[in-house]
Amino acid sequence: MTGVGSFEGRTALVTGGAAGIGRAICETIVDRSGSVVVADIDGSAAAETAKEIGERALGVRCDVTNSSDVENAIAAAKSEFGSLEVLVNNAGITRDGMLHKLSEEDWDVVLDVHLKGSFLCTQAFARYRRELVGADVSGSIVNISSINAKAGNIGQINYVAAKAGLVGMTKTAARELARYAVRVNAVQPGFIDTAMTRVIPEELRKQRIAEIPLGRAGTVWDVAKAVAFLASDEAAYLTGVVLEVTGGRLM
Ligand code: NDP
Repeated sequence: MTGVGSFEGRTALVTGGAAGIGRAICETIVDRSGSVVVADIDGSAAAETAKEIGERALGVRCDVTNSSDVENAIAAAKSEFGSLEVLVNNAGITRDGMLHKLSEEDWDVVLDVHLKGSFLCTQAFARYRRELVGADVSGSIVNISSINAKAGNIGQINYVAAKAGLVGMTKTAARELARYAVRVNAVQPGFIDTAMTRVIPEELRKQRIAEIPLGRAGTVWDVAKAVAFLASDEAAYLTGVVLEVTGGRLM
């Protein structure tokens, strides 16, 4: 694919890229002629995913909460593909529990992965892109928030706080990085069929799906296409935007 939605000559680093939504984002970017670093806490899954995607994909073990891992992943992108234009902060976990029962540990780990992890990746990416002022190719960050950040969700106070925090991070980074030709946007997926949602009890799944005006759970491809749009030059005048990918749920 060439032209305005193409990633030709561009490299993306996708955190949590070995599975689910992250993997679909990696595949979509490579399908559109880009290169991709599949960065995941599970190094062998990252390597396997990259192998299956093909030669323009590199698997790297990266725990986003560890700044050395993050530096290494960015360095790997530069040495393997020559440059890095796109960052997708996708890595995520859930540790659900009602407010009165949630452990401090489950609060900390969820905020660490989503917020500290996205901060470390964004900071490292921003430091690199600052050195490239005047470069022909602009940069782009896409953060994966959640529609639950807008509406709240029973049993997910840690996750919702983290995903709402990501919206603030998106808008602040968008303001700070515009002068370096880096756009920063977020998507808020709704109910998407992945390992993360397959653990939800059947009754609750049915209830969630009944709330979706378009009448079905989202697929990883629904999210990946929205991310690719925001990351590409098709969205050249969009920054600080939060795009809901929900089939209309909680609009
Ligand atoms: P998955 O659990 O399928 O994939 C998440 C990936 O992130 C896994 O490969 C996981 O590895 C990896 N990961 C976990 N912790 C870290 C870490 N510290 N560093 C690097 N990688 C890590 O989740 P989804 O694809 O469903 O979710 C992707 C993103 O989308 C998440 O941010 C999630 O919150 C968000 N989202 C998902 C929705 C849904 O309905 N599925 C809805 C709204 C938002 P491992 O499996 O080894 O833990």
